[in-house]
Formats: sequence, structure tokens, C-alpha cells
Amino acid sequence: MIVTRFAPSPNGSLHLGHAFSAIVAHDLARERGGRFLLRIEDIDGARSRPELAEEFRADLAWLGLEWDEVAPQSARVASYTAAADRLRGEGLLYPCTCTRAEIAAAAKTVGPEGPVYPGTCKGRAVDTGEPAAWRLDVAEALARTGPLTWTDECAGVQQADPARLGDVVLVRKDRETPASYHLAATLDDAADGVTLVTRGRDLFAATHIHRLLQALLGLPVPTWHHHPLLLDREGRKLAKRRNSPSLADRRRAGEDGLTLAADLRAGRFPAGISLGE
Ligand code: GLU
Repeated sequence: MIVTRFAPSPNGSLHLGHAFSAIVAHDLARERGGRFLLRIEDIDGARSRPELAEEFRADLAWLGLEWDEVAPQSARVASYTAAADRLRGEGLLYPCTCTRAEIAAAAKTVGPEGPVYPGTCKGRAVDTGEPAAWRLDVAEALARTGPLTWTDECAGVQQADPARLGDVVLVRKDRETPASYHLAATLDDAADGVTLVTRGRDLFAATHIHRLLQALLGLPVPTWHHHPLLLDREGRKLAKRRNSPSLADRRRAGEDGLTLAADLRAGRFPAGISLGE
């Protein structure tokens, strides 16, 4: 059975881009007689606002969506720690004490997620008293798994190329946020039985890393559906902190959510908003 999901982070209200993403995931499941899951990705300790989860549920119900809710990330920290311990035990993680500024200064290339970590701490003895993040040794990991492919329903078969993101962080320095998005989301999608990972094209590149993690951890391999993003007049994706009125504001102002959902499905977007490539 097909299982899709919508996995918002409660660090700001949802906007039209999220509504579109949730509708795509919901409809893909419903069209094929499958399940649509809601997962609250709430492990960003500093920025997470737990009260927003309730607002998200009200927004999705207002849009006329129905879902099964699975455990939030904060309830699954033990599984992230266990997976990280396993990879560390296999010699695939190394500690890194670099700051953001140091990485920006040392990076030779900029990848899809910003400056690519140049491997400064790889093979370096790090004082264990210092707070350290743990990074995946992507070259070593790939040497062990061999070449990998993954399939996006829209873009077709992809050769996994995780090196373009560099040695990503799997365990964050900040102890309040024990796992990075890459590790947590990959483990959760497997635990939730997600068969079609549905999300925006802004996360396309992340899938190269997720595919590698699946191979390393022996997780099932889903198919992906990276949908186009809603863009503003300047061609930028809608952002929580920028230009887009929140779904909660629209809902509280008395707008009809079912009409909005029907418009988004039909490609009728509000003035100034368009669907990207
Ligand atoms: N929690 C992520 C976000 O809100 C989405 C992650 C995903 O869909 O894989 O951007």
C-alpha cells in the first residue's frame, strides 16, 4: 500500500507552500488507496514551538485533509542515537568542532545546502571535552555501499551522488537537537513505513544522502516525489518569515479552506504566486 507523509517543523506557521505540499502528498495517497501521514518534526530544540503542532492540525483540517498522525521526532530520539552509535562503531562518523564561520571560510565549493564542508576535522584528533558534531565520512560510506540509485516519480532514476553535499552532520553539536534532519527524517520514514516520500524540490539534493543512509542502515528504499515549489514574484520559494500570509491567518480571517484547497489543486494561485519548474 502506498504511504505518503507531510512532515512540517513547528518553527513557524504554515503558509501556502505547505498547503500545496500537504495537498500533493494527501492526494497522491488517496488517488492510490493509500495512507497519508502527518509527522511533526520537532527536534530543533531552540526554534521549536510545540504549540504550533495544534495550529498545523487545525490548518490541515481547514483544508479538508484527513491524515493519520505518527509519533513526533521528539519521541524518537533513542532511535536516532542508536543509529548514530552504530555508524560511529563502524568507523563512518568523525567528530567535528568547526564553527559555521570556519566552514564558510574554508569551504572550496558551495553545494545545494550551502558551503560544502571541506573535511577539516577528518582524521584530526578532537579533544573529547569540546562539544563536537559528528559527520558522515561520505567517501568511506560510498566505498562500502558501492554505487546507489534512487527513483523520483517526476525526475526518474537518479544516480546517488551524496558527495555533492559533503560530509554532512548526522549528530549535532547542540545537545538539545540530537540528530540532524538527514538522520532523523530517514529513520522516521522507514519507521513509519513511508513508501512514497513526498516533499518539495528544495529537498531533492538531500535525497542523495538519505539514500546512502538507507544503504548503510539496512532500511527499506522508498520512491520519492519531489513536487515543484510555489514561488513569489521574485521567483523565490515562499518562506515562513518573509512574504506569505500564514494559513492560520487566512483561516482566522474567515477564508474558506476548501475553496483554497480546490484552487491550489487546479493551479489557481493568488496574485504574485506561481508554480516553479
Ligand atoms: N521538516 C521539513 C520541513 O519542514 C520537511 C522534511 C521532509 O519533508 O523531508 O522543511
